[in-house]
Amino acid sequence: MAVRIRLGDYQSVQGDPLGRDWVGCFPRMTEAEAWQAGRGVWKMNRARAAAERFCLITGKNRVLAVAEISGAVKYQDRIALQGELLVAGHPLYDAYAGQADPLANTSQNSVTYGDLPEEAALCIRPCACGCGETTRRYFAPGHEMKAIQARVRQHFGGSALAFIQWIDQTLQNATS
Ligand SMILES: [Zn+2]
Repeated sequence: MAVRIRLGDYQSVQGDPLGRDWVGCFPRMTEAEAWQAGRGVWKMNRARAAAERFCLITGKNRVLAVAEISGAVKYQDRIALQGELLVAGHPLYDAYAGQADPLANTSQNSVTYGDLPEEAALCIRPCACGCGETTRRYFAPGHEMKAIQARVRQHFGGSALAFIQWIDQTLQNATS
């Protein structure tokens, strides 16, 4: 399943929990702008939203952005999605970016859920930790920590401090 969020008309806002001074759609908005305008904040079930893998942001019945959801954050009684924009080459992006809203309906609700045929092959994949389980995300629940801890044990003698210092040093070397 994917979640589709339909943008309304452009409007300025104040006191926005995401720090925006506008929401809604306008002509020729970029995908990043559409994602920022559409990822929140909505009355939606947080667990359900976070369980979806893909999000389509639409406006004027066109898909303006396609994102992979990584989480959902609560702002009082509303929810904002977190995630990354998909780019050309990803099957979901190639199928829907710029196309008509595949989950168009007449509901007043901006948020709707639906199946996208391209998702089926993508939604189950092997856990990236190599355990052999399958998951709808990169990792089975909790396995990213196991994968990190295994590397700390294997390469840093179990020292999280040594691991973090190595990352910081590596990044510093990469940018200097
Ligand atoms: Zn795993």
